[in-house]
Order: sequence, then C-alpha cells, then structure tokens
Amino acid sequence: MARFILFVLLFVLLYAILYYLLKDTVVRRKKLGRESEPEELVQDPYCQTYIPKRTAVRKRVKGRYHYFCNKKCLRNFLEEKKS
Ligand SMILES: [Zn+2]
Repeated sequence: MARFILFVLLFVLLYAILYYLLKDTVVRRKKLGRESEPEELVQDPYCQTYIPKRTAVRKRVKGRYHYFCNKKCLRNFLEEKKS
C-alpha cells in the first residue's frame, strides 16, 4: 500500500513539474514575441530554410532547441535522427 501511495505522489510531482515547465515556456515565448528581436532568424536544420524565431516550430532535442519552418520538417528531422 505504501508503495502505491509513493507511486501516485511521484506521478503528481512529475505532472506538476511538466506543467510548470510548459507554462514557463509559453510565458517566455510571449515575452520574446512582444519585446526583443522580433525579426531574429533561425535555421531549420532539416530543410536549411531561415525562418523568424517567433513563428518557428520549436522542439527540444537532447537539451538543445531546434527550430523548424513547420511540423513536417520537425517530424522528418526526428525520424532521421532515430534511424
Ligand atoms: Zn523546413
């Protein structure tokens, strides 16, 4: 029984952390869009296109952020990494 409670607690904690991280990301993104460097360009690692950071699809892979022009490029990039 104690083990079950521990498991539930761990799950709740994990959920809370995830929620906090997601919220933090959204807030930071909003700030970036409003204030500094709205025209900063980032390169899509899959199709090598430059896109504005604001509109790019962001994905964190192994602790590094990658920016993509659309979700298709993101998916292709991840598929390529896997194989
Ligand atoms: Zn692309």
